[in-house]
Amino acid sequence: MPELPEVETVRRGLDKWVVGRRIVAVETFGERTLRRHLGGAADFTSRLEGRTVVAARRRGKFLWLPLDDGANLLAHLGMSGQFLAVPAGSAGSRHTKARFCFDDGGMELRFCDQRTFGGLALADEDLTADGVPVALSHVAPDPLEPAFDPDRFAAALRRRRTGTKRAILDQTLISGIGNIYADESLWQARLHFARATERLRRPEVDRLLTAVDGVLRAAIDAGGTSFDALYVAVNGESGWFDRSLEVYGQAGEPCSRCGTPIVRVHFTNRSSYFCPKCQPRPRAGRW
Ligand SMILES: [Zn+2]
Repeated sequence: MPELPEVETVRRGLDKWVVGRRIVAVETFGERTLRRHLGGAADFTSRLEGRTVVAARRRGKFLWLPLDDGANLLAHLGMSGQFLAVPAGSAGSRHTKARFCFDDGGMELRFCDQRTFGGLALADEDLTADGVPVALSHVAPDPLEPAFDPDRFAAALRRRRTGTKRAILDQTLISGIGNIYADESLWQARLHFARATERLRRPEVDRLLTAVDGVLRAAIDAGGTSFDALYVAVNGESGWFDRSLEVYGQAGEPCSRCGTPIVRVHFTNRSSYFCPKCQPRPRAGRW
């Protein structure tokens, strides 16, 4: 599932390929991709046609394209959504859910989504104080944006009374982190995923945030992680951060810090990977 680094890579592709272009035609396929656009497909296409894309923005795993009339085209990639810049009129796949054609011909933008958990919608011009469309106001600032406040995050974490991994996956507390980068950040910070948030000391919270920041930036530099082969950038290229993963998907491999085999355990309905030596399991009375 695309997390912040993959979505940021897609945003950079949209910035390069789409910003400044005027949309002349839009075609959508199937109902599911537009399920969050209450006006339906006809309203979606008629409001987009003739509009110029003025920017490509992101918070956490959400993207939006501000348009020249003030409206915003919102997008979430879900599990397998892809934005692809392809030569205009080239053959599509059955996973193509929307096509955007531009006035300069050359290329078109396609939204493809094999598993259809992604979606597109048009939102009006209302923005929050942080400059985010109101439709996304429930999404907490992500750790790479100026609106992210470490003090506020530390206080919210203390009130949450849950496990640390569960907390950093909560998009209303800190956005952009999913299973892969949660495991990588916890390993980097030497914290067990089940550590109680209300017992984390402030230096540990700061260590976690430093780890999150470093892991996300390194993954962006690598173009993201194409772990399940469904994620690709707008130009169709895969990311290569999977070669840098320390724990995720590495069960049985030696920890690069201490040599102890990485362990995989069930976590909610997914997995958690960690080093049992560097990230000791919390014990009663330990803190
Ligand atoms: Zn280790």
